Amino acid sequence: MHELSLAVQLVQIADEAARAADAKRVTAVVVKIGALSGVAEDALRFAFDVAVADTLLAQARLEIHPVSVKVVCPRCGIVELPSLQRFCCPQCDTSTADVRTGREIELESIEVE
Ligand SMILES: [Zn+2]
Repeated sequence: MHELSLAVQLVQIADEAARAADAKRVTAVVVKIGALSGVAEDALRFAFDVAVADTLLAQARLEIHPVSVKVVCPRCGIVELPSLQRFCCPQCDTSTADVRTGREIELESIEVE
């Protein structure tokens, strides 16, 4: 459970960016969350609501863009994992742990007024 510290960090970055841009308030925050990041969406939403108090983000909408897990199969190239239970290529069943996407926790963009 690191969602609260994550939310505080996201809010801080967005708040600073909004102030630097002379914005009155932040209306939306878009974050990319990978399926392997360990972040629970519900917990992040709850933590975000707590973290935005007394910041320019007080009324901001949190938009979460989930990122699926893509791995490199030595035969097929980059493939998307259909399940996190098995790290095997869905096309040829070769096992692989060469993860290319799915670990990200990123602030993608903010909308300000
Ligand atoms: Zn394959």
